[in-house]
Amino acid sequence: MTIFEKIIARELPSTIVFEDADFIAFKDINPRAPVHVLCVPKKLSSRLDEITNPLELGALMATAIRVARDHLDLADYRLAVNVGAGAGQIVFHTHVHILGGWLDGDADSQHADMAAHG
Ligand code: AMP
Repeated sequence: MTIFEKIIARELPSTIVFEDADFIAFKDINPRAPVHVLCVPKKLSSRLDEITNPLELGALMATAIRVARDHLDLADYRLAVNVGAGAGQIVFHTHVHILGGWLDGDADSQHADMAAHG
C-alpha cells in the first residue's frame, strides 16, 4: 500500500481539503510554499506517464485546478508533477503538487526550491 493509499483509507492522518469518488487532495506534510496541497487520483498509478487514458489525465488536471481555485481560493498558483526518481519523485502514487500563496516576488525562489527538491 502506498502512503497515499493509507491516507485515502484513513490509516494515516492528513488534512484533507477536497475529496470526491475519484480524487483526494490534502496538505503536503513538508510544505514548500505557503499553500502546498497534493491532488491524488484514488485509482493507483505509480507515475503520471503510466496513465494512458487522456480523459483520466484531463480529469486529474481539471480537479487540481478546481481545488486550487475553489477550495484553496488561489488566484495564481503552480501545478507541478515529478515524474520518476530522477525528477525528484519520492512517492510512487501519481500526484499533482498545487503550490501558491506567495507574497509578490516570492514565487521564483520557491520555484528553485521545488526544482531542487526539496
Ligand atoms: P514527490 O517528490 O513529487 O513524490 O512528492 C511527494 C510529496 O509527498 C512530498 O512533497 C512529501 O512532502 C509529501 N508527503 C510524504 N508523506 C506525506 C504524508 N504522510 N502526508 C502528506 N504529504 C506527504
